[in-house]
Amino acid sequence: MIKRVSVVIPAFNEADNLLVIIDRLETVFSSTAYEVEFILVDDGSRDKTLDILKTMARAKANLFYIEFSRNFGHQLALKAGLDKANGDCVISLDADLQHPPELILEMLSKWEEGYDVVYTRRTEDKTLPYKKRKTSAIFYKTLNILSSIEIEAGTADFRLMDKRVIDVFKEFHENEPFIRGLVKWMGYRQFAIDYIPSHRYAGASKYNFTKMVRLALQGVTSFSIRPLYTAVYLGFVFSCISVLYVPYVLFAFYEGIQVEGWASIIMTIVFFGGLQLIILGIIGIYVGKMFMQTKNRPNYIIASTNLPH
Ligand code: UDP
Ligand code: MG
Repeated sequence: MIKRVSVVIPAFNEADNLLVIIDRLETVFSSTAYEVEFILVDDGSRDKTLDILKTMARAKANLFYIEFSRNFGHQLALKAGLDKANGDCVISLDADLQHPPELILEMLSKWEEGYDVVYTRRTEDKTLPYKKRKTSAIFYKTLNILSSIEIEAGTADFRLMDKRVIDVFKEFHENEPFIRGLVKWMGYRQFAIDYIPSHRYAGASKYNFTKMVRLALQGVTSFSIRPLYTAVYLGFVFSCISVLYVPYVLFAFYEGIQVEGWASIIMTIVFFGGLQLIILGIIGIYVGKMFMQTKNRPNYIIASTNLPH
């Protein structure tokens, strides 16, 4: 029996990349015996992405598009594609050709060997801008220190998942899904492939520093409450220190020593004021997540699609 492979691609303002990536993917699959379906999610693009997808869908019976009602973000666009995929395995990759489609052959052969998840690790790309490399490194470092699941550096959303993993994944209704964390957390037999990323074919990256920080915070807070414990430990440490300080203050008071204190008092107030705000903010993030989850709104809204199911 011929196995079906679904390829899911989130696209936000990727008009200049779509024809190229589908062409590259078709070349890759033409050397295999799989039946392939493409699911492209237009994440509220403001360029010609949707028009191109519709035109392509008219010409190709195995190409499907999902139009979002607005921009919901990369993770939700990906989730929509995975939710709708019904292949025996599903491969997800970015539209900008940074994830080399040719690697898919290797991923498929690992899947045939019996792995349920074949994920990829981006090896250090020396040509990538220094800032992007550093932010990415910091991203994974903080994530791993602060959360209880370990995500290897350089794992993006370029991976293959078996149908049985996808079926479980479809049951997840988290408000802000952090997919690479969820997949790691789910377990099953996972295999990693290293690759050197290519350059973006056209357009610019949609992840800026603020979006990266947000994704990191989202990643940490949806997988552990370790930041809350850190706050407790911090508070404990400072309480201990202050207890040690009390005898000194009393001593100075009884001896009538006049201590000059303006600078130190201001510094202490500012420091602890900041610390308290950070900790309040951390608690706030968790409360906010609970608030968003209790509303139980749908993850995304599909405006139109040519998917039959
Ligand atoms: N993307 C999306 N919605 C967004 C931002 C990005 O669907 O709001 C898609 C984008 O079209 C691309 C993938 O997510 O296919 C990765 O985005 P990008 O290349 O900008 O991220 P980077 O590679 O710089 O981390
Ligand atoms: Mg990219």
